[in-house]
Amino acid sequence: MCGIVGYIGNNAVADVLLNGLKNLEYRGYDSSGIALNDNHTIEVYKASGKLGNLYQLYAKHQPQMANAHQGIGHIRWATHGKATIENAHPHISNDGKLVLVHNGIIENYKELRNELENQGFVFHSETDTETAVHLIDREYKLCHNLETAVIRAIKQLKGAFAFCIMHADETDKIIAVRKNAPLIIGIGKDENFIASDIPALIGKTNQILHLNDEEIAIVRKNCVEVKDLN
Ligand code: GLU
Repeated sequence: MCGIVGYIGNNAVADVLLNGLKNLEYRGYDSSGIALNDNHTIEVYKASGKLGNLYQLYAKHQPQMANAHQGIGHIRWATHGKATIENAHPHISNDGKLVLVHNGIIENYKELRNELENQGFVFHSETDTETAVHLIDREYKLCHNLETAVIRAIKQLKGAFAFCIMHADETDKIIAVRKNAPLIIGIGKDENFIASDIPALIGKTNQILHLNDEEIAIVRKNCVEVKDLN
C-alpha cells in the first residue's frame, strides 16, 4: 500500500504534489503519477521507476499546466498488474473527465470489470483500481454529481481503499474516501491537502484532520466537509 497526495489551492499544484510524493518515498514504490485539473481539462503524467522520471516528464509539459489549481498524485506499490506506465495511477475515465488515485486492493474487481466491459467501458490497465474509475463514471453519468456518484460506487466495492477523486466539470473540489487504508486532510489558508501520511504535508500545514474509516471528505479550497459514508 503506497502513497497519495492531493491539493486544491492557489499555489503551484504540481510542485506541491511532487514534493509531497517525494516525502512519501520511504514507503517504497515502483511507479508514480500526477493528474492536474486546469480549466476543465485533466492532464495525466505517469512514469515507471523512480520519481525523478516523473519530474523529468512533467518538466517538459509544465508551461501548459501552469494555471492548474487542483491535482492528485500517487506513488504505486503494484498489487495487481506489473509496474508499467499503463498500470501507474492516476487512472482516468473513457471520456477523460474523471480521474482517481488509489491505495489498497479492490477485492471484487474481477466481477465488476466483467460487468463494466460488457457495458462498453474500455480498460487500459491490468489494475484492480481502474474498475473504480469506470464504476464511479457510470454513476456520474446517471446523477451528474461527483459526491453522490462516489458514494454510490463505493458501496459496490469490497476491500481496502483510500481514494482521491477529481472531475473536470467539478473544479471546486477533490473527494477523498477512506476504508481500511490511511488518509489525512491537511488544513491550510485558502488551500487544503490530502495525503496518506503526515510527511507529505511537512512545511505545508500542521493542522491535520485524520479521516476515520468509512468517511468521505469533500475538500474545497476554503472548506472541508467530512461525512460518514453510510
Ligand atoms: N492495487 C492498486 C494497484 O495495484 C494500488 C496499489 C497501491 O496501493 O499502491 O495498482
